[in-house]
Amino acid sequence: MIVAVTGTPGTGKTSVSRELEEEFNVVDLTEFIKEKDIGEKKKEIEVGAEELVEALEEEIDSEEDILLDGHLSHHYPADFCVVLRTRPDVLRERLNERSYSDEKIEENVESEILDVILSEVVQKQENIIEIDTTEREAEGVAEEIRNRIEEEDTGYGEIDWTSFITSQ
Ligand code: ADP
Ligand code: MN
Repeated sequence: MIVAVTGTPGTGKTSVSRELEEEFNVVDLTEFIKEKDIGEKKKEIEVGAEELVEALEEEIDSEEDILLDGHLSHHYPADFCVVLRTRPDVLRERLNERSYSDEKIEENVESEILDVILSEVVQKQENIIEIDTTEREAEGVAEEIRNRIEEEDTGYGEIDWTSFITSQ
């Protein structure tokens, strides 16, 4: 089984994926891209989804239980695609802890507000599990993922950040 865990940077993909290492072979796509030198050392953000998917197809054994952790993971055809979401003001706080420029922080916050990743996901994936991590611990989110996969309890579209849209 292949599970893709995607979401805007800072939504908790890596923290949650770590909690699922016992049952899945977790592939951190940032690491994967570095190791494979995909796109001749381009940064992850510049790597095309197609070249990433091609490299994964060569590498991945679909008999295994694999979890793909990364904001491009949803480009890979997965059995389940988990989309992590975070309320924009909280996401901004989380990203402030990183060495991101203000511009990069606002770009990511904006993309979370406008459902950019989710809108890509719905075009590519069949079984979508959308989870708001705003007031959660990674452990609880991981438990929800386990249960919802088990019960095939998919669903998305309940999360609405449009009140955070600001006029410019
Ligand atoms: P991503 O891999 O999606 O970029 P990370 O897992 O690196 O996100 O998490 C980003 C930050 O948010 C980290 O500082 C982490 O401790 C925090 N974080 C992650 N998940 C949660 C959560 N469910 N609740 C609160 N903080 C979280
Ligand atoms: Mn990460």
